[in-house]
Order: sequence, then C-alpha cells, then structure tokens
Amino acid sequence: MTPAADLPDTFDMAQGKLTVDLGAICANWRDLSDRSQSDTGAVVKADAYGLGAGRVSQALAQEGARQFFVATAKEGAQIRKALGSGPDIFVFSGHMAGDTDDMRDAQLTPLINSIDQMLRHVEALPGHRFGIQLDTGMNRLGMEEAEWSALRDIALAQNPALVMSHLACADDPSHEMNARQLANFIAMTDGIDAPRSLAATGGILLGEDYHFDLTRPGVGLYGGLPYVDARPVVTLDLPVIQVRDVLPGESVGYSNTWIASVPTRVATVSGGYADGIIRAMGNDAHMWAGETRCKILGRISMDLIGVDITPVEGEPETLELLGLHQSVDTAADWAGTIGYEILTSLGARYDRVYLTA
Ligand SMILES: *Cc1c(COP(=O)(O)O)cnc(C)c1O
Repeated sequence: MTPAADLPDTFDMAQGKLTVDLGAICANWRDLSDRSQSDTGAVVKADAYGLGAGRVSQALAQEGARQFFVATAKEGAQIRKALGSGPDIFVFSGHMAGDTDDMRDAQLTPLINSIDQMLRHVEALPGHRFGIQLDTGMNRLGMEEAEWSALRDIALAQNPALVMSHLACADDPSHEMNARQLANFIAMTDGIDAPRSLAATGGILLGEDYHFDLTRPGVGLYGGLPYVDARPVVTLDLPVIQVRDVLPGESVGYSNTWIASVPTRVATVSGGYADGIIRAMGNDAHMWAGETRCKILGRISMDLIGVDITPVEGEPETLELLGLHQSVDTAADWAGTIGYEILTSLGARYDRVYLTA
C-alpha cells in the first residue's frame, strides 16, 4: 500500500484506485505504428475512452503522435488545451451549428459529413482546414456516393487535410464487409492527392491494403481487443471496507441471490454499478487478492460488492477487479458487452493515478 502521506489531499480511503499506465499506452501506440508504413494517429474521444484525454494526449504527443481524433468540437477544444498548438485535432462529428468558435479558437479540423456541413464550414470559416468523411457502407457518418460525386471536385480543389471512412466489421477479419468497404473506399478516392485513412485498431490488423496514409487506433492503445497483443493499461483496485464471517444458510446482498452452503469469509469492497462495475457482470465475476482468485457474491450494488475471501490469508486491504489477471475484455464477457463499454463506463469517483514510462 502507498502510505497515505503520499496521496493527494483529496484522496478518500473508501474510493477505488484506477491506475492508468501511460507507458503501456505509448508502447501500444508504438507497436501499432510499427505495423504499418503509414502515419499513426490516436483516437482520444470520450475522454480517451474514460482514461483521461489530457494526460493520454500529452503522453502520446511526446511519443510522436501528430494526429488526434475526437467525437465533438467540445472534446477537441479540451484536447487543444492539453496539447498546445501543433498537432492536428480532427472532429468526427464534423462542423455542427454552434461549433464555429471552437473550430476557430482551438484550430480544430472538422471531418465534413454532408453538403450541408460543407456549406456551413466554408461560410463560417472560409479557408479553414477541414477533412472529409465518406460512408462506405456502415451508414453512420459520412457522405454517400451520390453526395460525394456532387461535391468531390469542389471539395478537392480546397485541399482537404484528410479523406476518411470507417469499417463496420474490422474486429472480424473473415467478414466479407471488410473487402466490400475497402473496394468502395478505393472507388470513391482513387487518384486523389489528399491523404486517406480507413483503419482503426481492427483495420490496422487486417493488413497493409487497409492502411493508406494514416491509421486511427483507439481501443488498442488502451489495451482492448481486437488488439490481442496489447500491453495491459488499466488496473482497478477497490478498498475492502469490512470483513465478516457468514454461516451456511445466510445470504449476501440484495434479493438473497447468493446463499452460503459452507462457512464463508465475505469482504465488502467499495465500488459498484455507479462506478461502471456493470451489475450484469454478477454471477461469473471475480476479483483478486494478490494471486488468489475470489468470487463476487450475489448482486453488485450501487456502491458496494460482496466478495468471497475465504481462501485469502489475513485481511486484504484492497481487491483487484482489472489488471494483469483479468482485462477489460474479461470483465466485458461477464457483462455480455465489449471492452470499449467497460472502459468508457469507468466512473468519476475513482482516484486516477497515472504511471509514466
Ligand atoms: C472510435 C473510432 C475509431 C477508433 O476505433 P477503435 O476500434 O477504438 O480503434 C476510429 N475511427 C472512427 C471514425 C471512430 O468512430
């Protein structure tokens, strides 16, 4: 345990500790970057998938990242404060009404999604940098073929900073959608001078046909699938508040869903679904006391979880939910979701501690 004297004033002993290994994020970026001949950007939307966009962006800029991607102009303005001038900050949602001040003041590059957005952009900020987002089949963001045909020559004449699209099924290399979207992207962009981008984490792993000039990894940086070789980034330790002995026939937690069949030592840890520990993880979920695996008992509450520590010697001060023993994807499997959702759900109440390389 870190001595309390070293902790920030605001540290609350009943709060979980989320440790973010910035060195591991940088190592993941470097490794993903080594897998292509292209430039490698970094997707830091949603507060860098819940891990802290300011700290993460600064670390990645120091590692060499020069193109950052966010979902909204507000996120972009925040990243600009952390990065200072220099790196590109691209905004996936494009140029929305009300975004103009942020676009100009924070020098953001909107990824234009429609003719309407293009008109808004050139009227509000003539000569201001922009990119183009194309729809190649996902039907989420970007111009479709007909819209792009109408705008293409006008847009290309203004030297877009990037022309990009996004893959719907890149986490499954065998999915026929990948080749179909690749063919559409090539058909829509062949021969243009502007830099092109198609691949996020999954697309990088599909191979060089998908790399073009710039890749845009997100989840892989943060240790999540489909990047199986990722270095783990996140450790989540929850403090034990109380330990009690439970006799056969007694229950633990709401609705009595778990009833002891043998004498059981139960730790109550601080943390719950209000902190993004999804209640549906329930029955399969475990935590770790050092090298000892401990089963979560009964329902996960809003702020508390009961854990079987019978096999543990002594009283542990904390139990680990995420770390070397189990990843965000392990926890995602328990809850029937994906690592992305576990990461972005990690709550605001944790003390976030950053490890630098
Ligand atoms: C979120 C996102 C990414 C990053 O995807 P990962 O799967 O996390 O690597 C890249 N491009 C777009 C358009 C996105 O929305």
